[in-house]
Amino acid sequence: MTLSPDEQAFAADVRRFFAEEYPQDILALLRDGRKLSRADHVRSQQALNAKGWLGVGWPAEHGGPGWTPVQRYLFEQELELAGAPSIIPMAVVYIGPIICAFGTPEQQAHWLPDILESRAMWAQGYSEPESGSDLASLRMSAVRDGDDYILDGTKIWTSGAHWADWIFCLVRTEKCPRKQDGISMICADMRSPGITVHPIITIDGSHELNRVEFDQVRVPAKNMIGEAGKGWHYANVLLSAERVSYAHVGRKRADLAELRRVAATLPGAFAGTMADEPLFARRVALAELRLDAVELSVLRVLCGEAAPAAVSALKIACTELAQEITELWVELAGGDRIAVADRSQPGWRDTVPEAAPFAVPRTASYLFERAQTIYGGATEIQKTIVWRALDRANAALSR
Ligand SMILES: Cc1cc2nc3c(=O)[nH]c(=O)nc-3n(C[C@H](O)[C@H](O)[C@H](O)COP(=O)(O)OP(=O)(O)OC[C@H]3O[C@@H](n4cnc5c(N)ncnc54)[C@H](O)[C@@H]3O)c2cc1C
Repeated sequence: MTLSPDEQAFAADVRRFFAEEYPQDILALLRDGRKLSRADHVRSQQALNAKGWLGVGWPAEHGGPGWTPVQRYLFEQELELAGAPSIIPMAVVYIGPIICAFGTPEQQAHWLPDILESRAMWAQGYSEPESGSDLASLRMSAVRDGDDYILDGTKIWTSGAHWADWIFCLVRTEKCPRKQDGISMICADMRSPGITVHPIITIDGSHELNRVEFDQVRVPAKNMIGEAGKGWHYANVLLSAERVSYAHVGRKRADLAELRRVAATLPGAFAGTMADEPLFARRVALAELRLDAVELSVLRVLCGEAAPAAVSALKIACTELAQEITELWVELAGGDRIAVADRSQPGWRDTVPEAAPFAVPRTASYLFERAQTIYGGATEIQKTIVWRALDRANAALSR
């Protein structure tokens, strides 16, 4: 991949921003293995927005930076190489572009400025207890009552609902022969009477997920995005953007470089350091090669040069690669040094004095990355999408 002089200058400008203007204490917290608070994320996003660099995938007329796909890619790469936290995706990456594309001017004026200023956090209410992979079977109902809809049902695995000010939900407004029809997308204020958030603690000990109950929740009809009954279309436009956003190429590159650096400081099983262990070194090299392939695929998707099913193939590749990198870290930590601790507190390292400095955050990542097989559409479902696309292409070729 060759960058033009302008693109190189752009990347250098972004790099300089993270080194000089971005809040350095947030980078220091992450280097210390700490978990960021909501306030830290808000400060991080506000620093990006002050440069006009938050609404990365948004059209310029709604406050997006008007970047080319390559610039957007370079920005995300530099953010991750600098060790800055990713933009929390639910508002900025997922629903923001949908409101830009399908929202009314009133909705755009009401929601978009608060998203860009990080005054409002959002959650994504798609999955339900009986509807995950088979999302179109969802049952949460929205019944029209005058100027409002009344929402009833349960959403589950809702990331960040305990932080969120708003939630965008897929709801059933009509029963139709085809289950994908009759689904609508509606946004609810999380302070509405009748909404209850129940925490779900994940295997790494963190609280990201929730079950959200809606009991006769009254939501203004003007909060519906686009047309009633067309929610499945908006949901899928959103899911494509979501699946590409998992790539995190810069973060993986930084992790692999750090992995090599740390491996070179640890004794190998037989001689030399861990970095010289042939099997370990081979796995690291293969991960780096796969990352190069992923990087090119991401660029193809961002430049609109890839078939739609490529997003699904990419999601599988990114998932496998993310998990392989966390496995390599755990291998480096060694079984007896794997440890779990509450990293929301400054003195968390003192609670696990026997653990290598990297072991606790890397163990937490290892445990949490298991979930990437599932969220945003499970791996088996992505494989089915890829297979169907290949089958259609084969059929077209043989005609
Ligand atoms: C960390 C995390 C964060 C999440 N965040 C959110 C969020 O913010 N908002 C939200 O709405 N949802 C969220 N989810 C939910 C996620 O989208 C669902 O978990 C996912 O769609 C799978 O649904 P399920 O859990 O019901 O599993 P199921 O659909 O029950 O699947 C269970 C297993 O069966 C397999 N399977 C199912 N159907 C098929 C089939 N037809 N063919 C082959 N295999 C099949 C699946 O691949 C999977 O391995 C999150 C999940 C996780 C783990």
